[in-house]
Amino acid sequence: MTSSTELGRALRILADFAELRGDSEQAGDLRRAAAAIEGMPDPAVVELEHRVRRNRPDDESAFNPAVQSRLREIVLGGGARAITAAQTGLPTLIRSLLALSAVASDEAVTLGRHGILTLPDLQAALDDERLGRTVGDAAGARLRSAAGALELEAGQVSLGRASDSANAFIEAVARACPAVDLLVPAGEIRRWEPLISSIVVVGRASDPPGAIDALCRLSLVHDVLHHSGRRAIVLTGEGEIDVRVAAPDEYGTVLFTATGSRAHLSSVRQRRGAPKLAAREEDVYGHAGLPFIPAELRHATGEIEAAAAGALPGLVSREHIRGDLHMHTTYSDGADNVDAMVAACCALGYEYIAITDHSERAAASRTLTRADLARQRDEIAAIRDRYPQIVILHGVEADIMPDGRLDFSDAALEPLDIVLASLHDSAGHDAKSLTRRAIQALRHPLVTIFTHPENRIVGRRAGYPMDFDAIYAAAAETGTALEVDGAPSHIDLDGEHARAAAAAGVTLVIDSDCHRARWLDRQMQIGIGTARRGWIEPRHVLNARPLADVRAFIAAKRARRP
Ligand SMILES: [Zn+2]
Ligand SMILES: [Zn+2]
Repeated sequence: MTSSTELGRALRILADFAELRGDSEQAGDLRRAAAAIEGMPDPAVVELEHRVRRNRPDDESAFNPAVQSRLREIVLGGGARAITAAQTGLPTLIRSLLALSAVASDEAVTLGRHGILTLPDLQAALDDERLGRTVGDAAGARLRSAAGALELEAGQVSLGRASDSANAFIEAVARACPAVDLLVPAGEIRRWEPLISSIVVVGRASDPPGAIDALCRLSLVHDVLHHSGRRAIVLTGEGEIDVRVAAPDEYGTVLFTATGSRAHLSSVRQRRGAPKLAAREEDVYGHAGLPFIPAELRHATGEIEAAAAGALPGLVSREHIRGDLHMHTTYSDGADNVDAMVAACCALGYEYIAITDHSERAAASRTLTRADLARQRDEIAAIRDRYPQIVILHGVEADIMPDGRLDFSDAALEPLDIVLASLHDSAGHDAKSLTRRAIQALRHPLVTIFTHPENRIVGRRAGYPMDFDAIYAAAAETGTALEVDGAPSHIDLDGEHARAAAAAGVTLVIDSDCHRARWLDRQMQIGIGTARRGWIEPRHVLNARPLADVRAFIAAKRARRP
């Protein structure tokens, strides 16, 4: 038989889990049942177990059906199994902390009562030293080391996937819950981090608890891992989403806090003193004596000082972008044909685009031969007549060979409107050789853009360890643009590199490097968000200029030929 102590213990843990999910009523029922069973003499426990096994609760049972079904799980399968099963319905952070034995279930409840339910919550609590006061110093120390371990595991979702999930959720809320407005991605997505560890969205409603209840009932919500009056952590097919709904007078504060970064929040708090509620983020900054700081700049890398001095950059945004100079079609490894890409770019309102498929030697699944290039030239010429509203440049994304030359001859490249060059294949070279190859390509008079210079694969392969200062100097000197590539796997140059390049006088270009018509806009947006992280202004960006200026930029470099 199961002892009364074992039954009681299992029920108390299940009660803690119910409370963590936000179901305090069930938690209370389970705790009362635990206390009643713990006080029973052995024969009464035996009798209770019999009834539970036969699924015949007596009519006078003090236990409601939910408690009875929990008891049945424990009696039939054992307490450990019931506890493991119930853990799957908890927020990821809490599940991980329990698995690492960093907390017991009652300590997890204390965390939950203080709103610590995701890794960013835990990090914030560690930052402002709330944690020791909340759970005691011993648990605080265990949580600090657990947070370190979890940070290493986190961040596995690409920005593209995470923002798709967030946006699908936001669209579903907009359709089904009109009481919620201003619902936007916050956190890492709003800061355009290349890798996302936690999806957070923030919205506004005059009745936050009612709005939370409504969005927990959406059909794309598979489970509600936690809910309270202002917050729900929901599980969708794409993973966990942390939803905050603020009342109108607190929306600014909640959005600001949920956006981070941690370093930025702490710098602003130092200037601001005790937190005050704010309806708009502008008011949060106003309380700190600062103008509004765009989310992409919030990394404590000089933005507070710049804001205080009235010297924030006027960042590039979507309306500045006149064209997209890097995309693929079915001539190489793209999914859509030239016509589909052109039509989609027209719909985006671009004035000009470049079709730039992979050259012969690229390690792509399909590449262009010189004969294909001629065929593509004729096809583009025919398509131009059908789309008079846009200028279609014919280009190529050429490969920089191990010896630093391009894989197409000058004779093949010369007739093209624009040439992009990429270091797709490192050939096992070290930093010095890679830098030499890059600079040789930058010196090639026909190369207008050095594309995705670091050639990293976000989350899988680090960028090349090249001498970037030398590359920036060569790009500036030769009049070659460096790319901020918005493909979620590249995001390259990243913000930090883009900022350093612009400071070195380099012209940047923001491209989608898109392989699918329906992703043209999304990848351009990622490129723009990344450039904004690098403090990039429209004056730094080639494709924020009219076509005549782009042509002049290309011609100026070509004219340098000896
Ligand atoms: Zn490429
Ligand atoms: Zn490409």
